[in-house]
Amino acid sequence: MTSLPLISVDPDARGRRPAMPPRHLADLDLPGRQALVTELGEPAFRAKQVSNHYFGRLVRDPAQMTDLPAATRERLAGSLLPALLTPVRELACDDGATRKALWRLHDGSLVESVLMGYPDRVTVCISSQAGCGMACPFCATGQAGLTRNLSTAEIVDQAVYLAGVAASGAVAGSPPRLSHVVFMGMGEPLANYSRVVGAIRRLVAPAPEGLGLSQRHITVSTVGLVPAIRRLASEELSVTLALSLHAPDDELRDELVPVNQRWKVSEVLDAVWDYAATTGRRVSIEYAMIKDVNDQPWRADLLGRLLAGKLAHVNLIPLNPTPGSRWDASPKPVEREFVRRLRDAGVSTTVRDTRGREIDGACGQLAAAEDRDTDPPCEATA
Ligand code: SF4
Repeated sequence: MTSLPLISVDPDARGRRPAMPPRHLADLDLPGRQALVTELGEPAFRAKQVSNHYFGRLVRDPAQMTDLPAATRERLAGSLLPALLTPVRELACDDGATRKALWRLHDGSLVESVLMGYPDRVTVCISSQAGCGMACPFCATGQAGLTRNLSTAEIVDQAVYLAGVAASGAVAGSPPRLSHVVFMGMGEPLANYSRVVGAIRRLVAPAPEGLGLSQRHITVSTVGLVPAIRRLASEELSVTLALSLHAPDDELRDELVPVNQRWKVSEVLDAVWDYAATTGRRVSIEYAMIKDVNDQPWRADLLGRLLAGKLAHVNLIPLNPTPGSRWDASPKPVEREFVRRLRDAGVSTTVRDTRGREIDGACGQLAAAEDRDTDPPCEATA
């Protein structure tokens, strides 16, 4: 969610009306795929066969599905497996434990995803929209506005691609299997509600229908679209909700997160507590630490009073400063004092690691670098 410098779609795409991509098997559930395959004159079992390749073996290129007859491969390639993401650039940092991918979509929009390896898990951070319409002033993605929603398959394909990278052993010191997905890339996931929920269903469905991830290992981040939070609570999905709060008071949050002018802090917190009660899942409260803006001790105390006794965990995010931005990260002593006050109030709090900083790790930054045609500071792998 949090990003900084200017981001834009491909210059060639400007002025063109963004269009949704062609249908892909990841847009459909298994019965939908079977119906489509039958329509194409193939036996229904082909749907399972192709799904096994895509979700089970992480094979995205129909040419590599060599157990299918060549004519079938050709027929199914166009209707079920169109190429959705064209890699523009891949970068590796943190001794190979962080890999960032920049994609060009079929209409020229740029989006990005990040793979993060840890000793006990592999996480991917994926985008749900090209650009974002939420206009948070400290975020580059927000400054450029929304280009379009991603399709369900464009969202899923980011995870499947990076799951394949992890499976190849490219992330040293981490397990080879993708285990966690966070919707914290470009965009506001709940503003693309039905496609994001479709993507979650594909991610958690067992193979061959989906990737077979645990619902508990999926995190959906939102700036606080209250009706969508309430709708998500009714989906019988126990995914983790992360609320980008960034300020505990309406006066500042109206400025930092403009959607707060529609749904106030008290309303959005009521919605997330109801989400926690319905799902039993602890809510993650995201708070970007911005120097002299939202990092005062009294704001830590106010946040502590709002969250004390609730099923919540605070993730403080050191802001990633970027050239030309008027926003800067809070100094470490200020950050430590903020943490101390929250913990004293009985609120579980951690400071998020700053993976990928060297590769413009906040959302939008790699695409911004591409648009500025600047060289990335890390090793390019593609
Ligand atoms: S909601 Fe949109 S504008 Fe706000 S921080 Fe996230 S990506 Fe940026």
